[in-house]
Amino acid sequence: MIPFAEAKRRVLDSVTCVTEPEETIPLHAALGRILARPVVAVAPVPNHDNAAMDGYAVRTADLSSATPITLRIVADLPAGSHRSAPLRPGEAVRIMTGAPIPPGCDCVVMQEQVQRQGDQVTIPPGQHPGQHIRLAGEDIAQGTEILPGGRRLGAADLGLLTALGRTTVPLCRRLRVALLSTGNEVVEAGTPLTPGQIYDSNRAALRAALTLLGVEVLDLGLVRDDRTAIEAALQRGATEADALISTGGVSVGDHDLIKEILAKEGQIHFWQVAMRPGKPQAYGQLGKAHFFGLPGNPVSALTIYLLIVRPALRKMMGALPQPDRSWQAVFRGEWHKRHQHMEFLRGVAHQGDPPDQMPWVELTGAQGSGILTSLARANVFIVLPEKPLHLTDGTLVTVQWIDYD
Ligand code: AMP
Ligand code: MG
Repeated sequence: MIPFAEAKRRVLDSVTCVTEPEETIPLHAALGRILARPVVAVAPVPNHDNAAMDGYAVRTADLSSATPITLRIVADLPAGSHRSAPLRPGEAVRIMTGAPIPPGCDCVVMQEQVQRQGDQVTIPPGQHPGQHIRLAGEDIAQGTEILPGGRRLGAADLGLLTALGRTTVPLCRRLRVALLSTGNEVVEAGTPLTPGQIYDSNRAALRAALTLLGVEVLDLGLVRDDRTAIEAALQRGATEADALISTGGVSVGDHDLIKEILAKEGQIHFWQVAMRPGKPQAYGQLGKAHFFGLPGNPVSALTIYLLIVRPALRKMMGALPQPDRSWQAVFRGEWHKRHQHMEFLRGVAHQGDPPDQMPWVELTGAQGSGILTSLARANVFIVLPEKPLHLTDGTLVTVQWIDYD
């Protein structure tokens, strides 16, 4: 049995980015995918100085700091049009938000502030050079790196790339992850249960988690605790996928075959981690695929996935490491921890209430490794160190945001 931190480190150290060669993909299909290389702005955004308000473009040299000044309107510039003739003394241009600032103008006056009569506009004092003008390149300067390689593309990123005129992006190829459920008692939902049977909730949850991560899932289905059937499924996964995740059959029971098969057909790097939930688990290699043998208990399987497998898959995908999203919170409730394993309780974190504003956290209910509602209701793990502890109202604990992406 190895400590949780060591298990996580050993897994992260042994995986590498496997998503070469890069592929060029239309932007509309790039959401959630990983950028293979940095993107550099080939042009500034915006590409010209433009009006930030509807109003009048003027020369501040014509204005007075003491009295209103009347100017003659010489042009009307809606967004989408432009004027190349420089403004002369005493002139103003009617301008709409987004329209390029005509040469010679250094100020836009909001239309709410002026008085207009025919082609005359009267500007009050108090206007400043540069007022209500968005400068070329103020969002993105030409030549800057706007997105780093390894970035997982979000909605605003696709907007940025489009603002630069991009229609395609270089992406890492999608990681392929094979998923297998094992267990004589496990059946597909859709058929009535006979006594002793349960539905395959693990594959549904893990498949969803992998989808949120943006990998391609190779569904190996559900097999009985049968050596030949498991071997055949795993061999298929090992040849077709980059990583392989199984659930069930990884403990010490009579029908727990995963460890034996992995030892015979591949290599086991470690088995059993001092964490709760999730002690029985195997990590190793089968062919070229990294193998994660998760236990059958639904909370254990998903917790190990979130805390160990997911960071490893992200590294394999070519994604940048994520910043730590944990913080200190005040525990409310009671919890006795008597064992010497790291523990990941499922909790709901709340923002602090006045007057002290200290964030606080409570348990989601019963914490057994088969109580999937404890994880479904949670937004954080309450991370408890190895040593035995007694949590009561007011104990300070570390909470870690539950991230699927
Ligand atoms: P195992 O790790 O095979 O000893 O299974 C531990 C527990 O998890 C048992 O109660 C199993 O019935 C349950 N279990 C195993 N596989 C699944 C699954 N795919 N979905 C839901 N529960 C499962
Ligand atoms: Mg089993």
